[in-house]
Amino acid sequence: MDCMMVNIRVAAYIDGELAPAESEQVATHLEKCSDCAALVVSLQEQCFEKFSAEQKSDICGDKDFWGCMDGVLNAHMDQMVVAATTVRGPWYSQKVGVPMPMMVAYAAAMLLAVAWGVQQLDRAHSAEMAADHLGQQIEQERRLAAQPQTAPTGGNAAYKVVTYTPQRGTF
Ligand SMILES: [Zn+2]
Repeated sequence: MDCMMVNIRVAAYIDGELAPAESEQVATHLEKCSDCAALVVSLQEQCFEKFSAEQKSDICGDKDFWGCMDGVLNAHMDQMVVAATTVRGPWYSQKVGVPMPMMVAYAAAMLLAVAWGVQQLDRAHSAEMAADHLGQQIEQERRLAAQPQTAPTGGNAAYKVVTYTPQRGTF
């Protein structure tokens, strides 16, 4: 294995991710080649040790740590709020602090809702009308069926019952 091959595999070698045979080849090269050995050493130095639980509690248990973080966060959020509220725009978006596209979307949604409502109302109304009409028709036919003899007596000769068939219910 030459230096090039080792350089490619060096990170995996340090992490122990190489196959045993490959790892052995890298190791034998490192024994002979001081350049690659130096590279491994420099890379290993970059590997930070993880904090122990004690070290973590030491750091996070420190009041100043969170106090400082709080301050930084607050300052950052204040900046964000200021940045959001100082956005220049038309008076209507400035007043409520809502960006223009949001206003448009909201208005459109409202319009749609109103249009839908009106349509539903219209539909309900026409359905009611149809039901009323049907009810009237049924009532009329029922009346006629119950009293076939008292059919239209307007006194008009032209309006004359010719035949009546109860099965059909119509004249
Ligand atoms: Zn080498």
